[in-house]
Amino acid sequence: MNNFSHNFLSHKVQNLAESETLAMAQLTNDLKSKGVDVINLSLGEPDFQTPAFICEAAKTAIDEGHHGYTPVAGELKLRQLIAEKLKRENQIHVTAQQVVVSTGAKQCIANLLISLLNDGDEVVLPAPYWVSYKDMAQFFGAKVVEVPSRLEDDFKIDAKTLDEYLSENSKIFLFSNPCNPSGTLYSKEELESLLSVFERYPNLIIISDEIYEYIRFEDNFCSLASFPTIAQRVVTVNGLSKGFAMTGWRLGYLAAPLEIAKACSKVQSQMTSGANAPTQRAAMVALRADGWRETQTMREAFRQRRDHLIALLSAIEGVEFNCPQGAFYLFPRIDYYLGKSYKGKVLSHSKDLALYLLEEAHVGLTPGGAFGCPEHIRLSYAVEENVLTDAVQRIDRALKLLQ
Ligand code: PMP
Ligand code: GLU
Repeated sequence: MNNFSHNFLSHKVQNLAESETLAMAQLTNDLKSKGVDVINLSLGEPDFQTPAFICEAAKTAIDEGHHGYTPVAGELKLRQLIAEKLKRENQIHVTAQQVVVSTGAKQCIANLLISLLNDGDEVVLPAPYWVSYKDMAQFFGAKVVEVPSRLEDDFKIDAKTLDEYLSENSKIFLFSNPCNPSGTLYSKEELESLLSVFERYPNLIIISDEIYEYIRFEDNFCSLASFPTIAQRVVTVNGLSKGFAMTGWRLGYLAAPLEIAKACSKVQSQMTSGANAPTQRAAMVALRADGWRETQTMREAFRQRRDHLIALLSAIEGVEFNCPQGAFYLFPRIDYYLGKSYKGKVLSHSKDLALYLLEEAHVGLTPGGAFGCPEHIRLSYAVEENVLTDAVQRIDRALKLLQ
């Protein structure tokens, strides 16, 4: 305890929740550090090493003396390469000046929300949504509107539902495709079917978070900013963390209308300055034309693990799920087990269930409430197949103890 007679933390910070994914990963690691044999399926982090050619580029950058501050919005050469990548792979047409490089996609999203939101503005999030979208938006003064989706529809929303939840007050529509946590991948046709609704709201800014772009199991991925009728107000967010297994290197980027890109750069100039110099050099190599091919083996491994996990979970009573087409998460509905109890303690929420499975099964998972779906739970399958087998056996055993 401190000696102050009052809580000196800002109301904003007191109201801010800790990121649930990171909090669950911490709890899992705490248990591990006590010597308990815990399986961690809570954190969204590839278990692969960064490809060697990228590591080599970073080593060379250090040896060549790239140790100083970088331009706030990123090295011009990298921004040019990103603009070329977006044109080549995503049919997005932007100049290097419209690209801002940041310390992770998380910072890109924070920069955007700071740049765009006034108090009371509405941010529309299809649920399930990535954990930090809602907390960040509220932290920056916005009112969050959640658009529900159904497991039976692969968690996709259609034009009619979108229209119901958008209004003249909607400032931002923010979603991830492929989606964390559901693995949902909107096809080109499905995105196209939402266009007429987006066109009816000309002041709406759409943020498409495509950080799982390279981890997809279907070939029908399409960037929302490739549609000319709305391209002028779609911001694309992406980064190296997932596709290139570079979570700790901290590099994300966005491509936005020039005014928004400049605003994000201004915010960044006051908060953190340019992203780390050797990582930017490494990114120049990762994002070259054939760089993504080096990630194929990871993608194939994720697909096999997904299939393995689905086969295992199918045998467990009361657990329902969609078949994810991207990312490396499964997001089963577990409401069958809510309300059941263990040793007299009732598990009312997905968080109770996640804590129970951590304590009883020694498996770390993330409760679905963090993603706007409290009847679900998220499993990250970025671990080897034998670990998944062990984890599901443990979960099954623990679920059977519930009454
Ligand atoms: N968006 C989504 C959907 C994510 O899952 C993550 C997870 N890290 C991020 C953004 C942030 O990624 P980064 O590591 O680049 O900050
Ligand atoms: N995005 C990852 C996840 O959803 C990493 C954790 C985080 O950045 O919150 O687990």
